[in-house]
Amino acid sequence: MHILVATSEAVPFCKTGGLADVCGSLPREIPNLGHQASLVLPAYRQVLTSQLPIEKTGIEFEIPIGRKNVTGSVLTCQLGDSGVPVYFIQQDTYFDRGELYSISGVDYPDNCARFVFFCRAIMELATQLPACPDVIHCNDWMTGLIPAYLQTEYAGRPGYEQIATILTIHNIAYQGNFWHWDMELTGIDWKHFNWQEMEFYGNLSFLKSGIAMADKINTVSPTYAEQILSPPWSCGMEDILRHRRDDLCGIINGIDVRLWNPETDIYLVTDGYANYDVESVSIGKKLNKAALQRELNLPQHDMPLIGIIGRLVDQKGFDLVTEVMKTWVRSQPVQWVILGTGEPRYHKLLAELEQLYPQNVSVRLEFSNKLAHRIEAGADLFLMPSQFEPCGLNQLYSLRYGTLPVVHATGGLADTITNTTDETLALGTANGFSFVEHSSDALATALHHAIATYANRHTWSTVQTIGMQQDWSWAHSAQKYLQLYESAIAKRKASVLA
Ligand code: ADP
Repeated sequence: MHILVATSEAVPFCKTGGLADVCGSLPREIPNLGHQASLVLPAYRQVLTSQLPIEKTGIEFEIPIGRKNVTGSVLTCQLGDSGVPVYFIQQDTYFDRGELYSISGVDYPDNCARFVFFCRAIMELATQLPACPDVIHCNDWMTGLIPAYLQTEYAGRPGYEQIATILTIHNIAYQGNFWHWDMELTGIDWKHFNWQEMEFYGNLSFLKSGIAMADKINTVSPTYAEQILSPPWSCGMEDILRHRRDDLCGIINGIDVRLWNPETDIYLVTDGYANYDVESVSIGKKLNKAALQRELNLPQHDMPLIGIIGRLVDQKGFDLVTEVMKTWVRSQPVQWVILGTGEPRYHKLLAELEQLYPQNVSVRLEFSNKLAHRIEAGADLFLMPSQFEPCGLNQLYSLRYGTLPVVHATGGLADTITNTTDETLALGTANGFSFVEHSSDALATALHHAIATYANRHTWSTVQTIGMQQDWSWAHSAQKYLQLYESAIAKRKASVLA
């Protein structure tokens, strides 16, 4: 099989969230399982100005966007040392910009045209690749029109009939909905603007189009796959998802253990940080905690250090975090380290807490991969009280780094973190702390439980060891994707024959 992974971001080229981690690592695993993979993404400014050995392919095309024809071309390089070819869709007016999707928190007004162009360019590219893909693996709304093009404009065209599609929903809250007249930009016949295909409450929806027309659909954890069949988690998409229920499944994301490994982490070799493994975790964590406290100007007290990394939005539970922090900074001997960017009100609140309590709170309002690695290594606890969480990656990185996760038991967090109790300790499955009701009281109770466990070094080290020894690499999940690709191909073949 040849799988073309289509995505709007991938590590190491560009990243705003977990989508980039997944799309930068899954394609590396596919050749290990005996199949061919390629990756395609936009040629953003980060790509054009990178030091990577990027070359022209000579492939050029003209894409109709409404009444205009827009030209584009294709650049290429490899995904690190994996041999997986990467193709970049170049269209500088659309993609040579400072940010990926928005500027100062406001979406670019031409996002619809940008990603219509991207999807259609991938359609043109697919049949010009050295080997035509058997499956196009679409990810999130930005690639949601690809299944729609295959079922409409490109249906019956030579070379396209056998291409199957899967759509992975990384977060159903991001849907790519645009006003109905943008249907004109797609070039797809208005007859498909109906509630079972591309229309969503009067708008054109990229995500719904993909859900309606992909051969198979998945989300990034089994629990989230169940949750999104009903409100509020479905974000309005419950009808189309229930309609496609037989083609929907959940596959937990893997983590890239080359990049996220405390034994080899390149960000732990300088500034007093240290690499460590399960044998040396106790001393390793001590050194890294001290280095982190130094780097973030926190006093070197031996009190539990709680780390948080993520987008500062309601989804990630920052309403609960800030509520708990407001009382805890005065009453509990813990330190808080927060790294993130997002809604201005959280920037303001967190900056105020840091200013008032510099002994206990350190906040970095930026995107820093290096600091993200160092927080995973230096913190004792990692907090993820998300309202909902399709999969979540940071709790998996935390497990590997011996940093005990404290999570709201939802979506992928429920599928990966087992609360520490006498029973789960006896079973050898306890790997963190979780709470069920999404409230600040429940979060505070879980944190008290975690802190009490911190004081009991034996139990702490048992839970730490269980987490560090679990395997959350792509080994299992990539196999599941292969099965999904195969089932999508079988479905496509059956519909061609029908
Ligand atoms: P989501 O995709 O919803 O943002 P995930 O937990 O799936 O959440 O993935 C988030 C990814 O983005 C993780 O790799 C995390 O470390 C990274 N990340 C988020 N915010 C920042 C930040 N401010 N600096 C560095 N990395 C970040």
